[in-house]
Amino acid sequence: MRDFSYLRATSVDAARRAAALPGAMLLAGGTTLIDLAKCGVAEPDSLVDITHLKGLDTIEIDERGAVIGALARMSHVADHAGIKGGFPAVSEALWQAASPAIRNMATVGGNLMQRTRCPYFRDPSNFAACNKREPGSGCSAIGGVTRGHAVLGTTEACIATYPGDLATALVAFDAVVHLGERRVLVDDFFLLPGTTPHKEHAIEPGEMITAIEIPGSAAARRSTYVKVRDRQSYEFAAASAAAGPELEADERTVRDLRVALGSVATKPWRARAVEEALKGKALEPEAVRAASLLAIEGAVDHGANHYKIELAPRVVARAILKLGEAA
Ligand code: FAD
Ligand code: SF4
Repeated sequence: MRDFSYLRATSVDAARRAAALPGAMLLAGGTTLIDLAKCGVAEPDSLVDITHLKGLDTIEIDERGAVIGALARMSHVADHAGIKGGFPAVSEALWQAASPAIRNMATVGGNLMQRTRCPYFRDPSNFAACNKREPGSGCSAIGGVTRGHAVLGTTEACIATYPGDLATALVAFDAVVHLGERRVLVDDFFLLPGTTPHKEHAIEPGEMITAIEIPGSAAARRSTYVKVRDRQSYEFAAASAAAGPELEADERTVRDLRVALGSVATKPWRARAVEEALKGKALEPEAVRAASLLAIEGAVDHGANHYKIELAPRVVARAILKLGEAA
């Protein structure tokens, strides 16, 4: 870890100006950034501490939905009555993320900006080739150990998985990232790797996440988040799914459905084909399992991650059927 300067920002504008300078990085809870600095991936010249900025840790709920300040802690959001009631998938995703100690430190803005867990990306001293770290250097993962890597949205430049839980729940319900005045749908905020995997987010130098807005809906109110992982706590997902239906008056037929997949793609992955296939149908196991296979259309495996192609549709089906049981 090398020397860097530290600035405690006193306003959003000051933070944005300081963060626009070359080599500057925003510091929120620090649970990702300090980790990345220790392993030599993040090498900031200056850290701009935004944790003391006033008014960015609030949660506002009204009939239109929720607006969550970027500095709200994961544990606070997970436990908020309005989030649990109006957006259970969001609360459940946060409860199942990381550990209690990390959730108490980490912010939702920082959570969206977390980087991939690709072990080659996080080990620069042993693996020089990583297009995400060093554009044009190649990809050590392709042909390497790929158990945790993505099967959707990959390219020859990068197959790294986006690992976060919160963003998977957010993308299902058309949440919007506030970058000050600018607004970007979560689905557009996360970029596919294409030939430029180092460019991960639709955020420009000098911009920062100020809030996350989630529109209220019947689907969000009835939603859930299912996470399957190697051990039951303190572990990233092998595959996860957020789902939420709006049902007709008969409480069985799907009027609207939202489905998203986590930890199987290079970005939080909206499964629109599954949504369309089940609209107008009853939430019956056979129909749900058949539709869930569409979640993985176009998937490409790299050997050891093949199991994700089998697992992901099962996780999607489990999430949707869980909602059917509740209906
Ligand atoms: P920081 O570390 O302060 O910042 C992270 C990045 O975001 C930095 O690049 C920083 O510059 C940038 N940033 C911070 N705030 C803003 C902002 N407002 N606008 C723009 N950029 C900003 N996550 C999961 O979803 N599921 C898990 O199961 C999970 N398990 C974990 C296990 C471990 C051991 C660890 C260390 C982390 C785990 N995480 C998991 C990730 C964790 O949730 C993130 O580290 C955390 O949410 C990051 O938030 P932070 O406030 O600490 O961000
Ligand atoms: Fe780097 Fe992406 Fe390859 Fe991992 S998968 S080594 S992050 S280019």
